[in-house]
Amino acid sequence: MDNNLRILLPDKLELSREVEADIWAASAAASNLFSSEISGLGRIEEKDSRFYCSEIMIAEQKSRVEETRFRDEGRWFQEFSANITQKGISLSEFRMWWHSHGRASVGYSSRDWETITEVFLKSMLNDLHASLYSKNGFVPERTVSGPLISLVANARGEMTARCDFLYRRKDENGAELLNLLTLYLPVMRNFSPPFDNILLEDQDFLKKRYALISEEVKRKVGRLRR
Ligand SMILES: [Zn+2]
Repeated sequence: MDNNLRILLPDKLELSREVEADIWAASAAASNLFSSEISGLGRIEEKDSRFYCSEIMIAEQKSRVEETRFRDEGRWFQEFSANITQKGISLSEFRMWWHSHGRASVGYSSRDWETITEVFLKSMLNDLHASLYSKNGFVPERTVSGPLISLVANARGEMTARCDFLYRRKDENGAELLNLLTLYLPVMRNFSPPFDNILLEDQDFLKKRYALISEEVKRKVGRLRR
């Protein structure tokens, strides 16, 4: 690790009660209805020493058991960005990518690593976020993307979160290299997984979110064919 890189980023991810319920509901609905994965973006703000997610959206996508793709990923991201910019929302706020692994575990696959670096971080190259973090210790001239927050969930309510960004550094010969830094983040939860045996007092709330979200999942998820 580069000694000159100062990092004083938030070190946890907190999800609102609605966001946690909705990510679980979307994961469970996609798994139950289509035996597939599902993905979308989340709105992130900083609160004290944590990233806070207060809102998510579900992308229109094609999906199958082990894979989900936004409709033409690179273009989808550009369209989405143009769309929210029109509404006066900055893309830098929607910098969480979440997706589910259906009923499987919540580790990051090689394809997930690729999506994070090739689709998201490279779309964010030379973006606006870096300057936002200068007060927190980011080194703007060295930081070239992100940070991007990623979250993998499953239908049992398990989640793994991480934070990635690209930065520049020079090697011993003075050549400039682009490096990826990945930090895994603890998730501050509202419910305890597995959701198969959730506390009685939470059941009503989760059932209501499931009813709402599963309708949205039906509208937005299509089958991905090889
Ligand atoms: Zn994945």
